[in-house]
Amino acid sequence: MVLRATLVDLLDAILPARCPGCGTWGALVCGPCSATLAPAPIALPPPPVEWWASCFAYEGVARELVARAKYRNERRFLVLVARELARAIESVPSSIDLVTWPPASAARMRAQGVDHGELLARAVARLTGTSVAPCLYRGAGSAQTGLDARARRLGPSLRAIGRVCGATILVVDDVATTGGTLAAAARALRAAGACGVFAATIARTPRPGGRTEALAYNPATSTARAPNSIGSTWTSSSSAST
Ligand SMILES: [Zn+2]
Repeated sequence: MVLRATLVDLLDAILPARCPGCGTWGALVCGPCSATLAPAPIALPPPPVEWWASCFAYEGVARELVARAKYRNERRFLVLVARELARAIESVPSSIDLVTWPPASAARMRAQGVDHGELLARAVARLTGTSVAPCLYRGAGSAQTGLDARARRLGPSLRAIGRVCGATILVVDDVATTGGTLAAAARALRAAGACGVFAATIARTPRPGGRTEALAYNPATSTARAPNSIGSTWTSSSSAST
């Protein structure tokens, strides 16, 4: 698994990037496609999470962005979304002592060979100059992906590990759908004495019927759009500066 992860890193460094929206070579996300990225839908954090931030609505190009960073193991996209997350948590209401992540399920670890949540959390911590540590242990059970909404709301079985007592902790994850995983993480951390739990995700799933269809990615029209409503155009060279 380690060998495969190393090989993926090597290929990632050698091969040019392709825009996840339209496939244009040389751009992490080209201008027209970044213009289709919609802000995350506004929603209250799932208790006992006290505050949360998210970069994008989980639709269109954002879905593909998450897939590249998470499922297809393209590290440059992981760096890109970590930068967006670092920006999203600038408005956090109080200082963060520790960044952590909900660990991947055993099945996902077997399939991927690496925990992308950990890579993302470590990248966010590095960018924000915050300490990072594994603070959660995941009990046996299935992954959240593919479960119905009720099962997802319950979240995975998590318990706190390490020194979390008295700390304000930021939990970093890829996508919030029901918020079940983040709530489970916050319950475990608060039970172990954490004094506050915040959360940040790359994307948040729009409420049913609340999708921003006008901004959804459409390959047929994406090149005709005015570039760039959110952030800047991300190029391969800009990703190398972290
Ligand atoms: Zn594009």
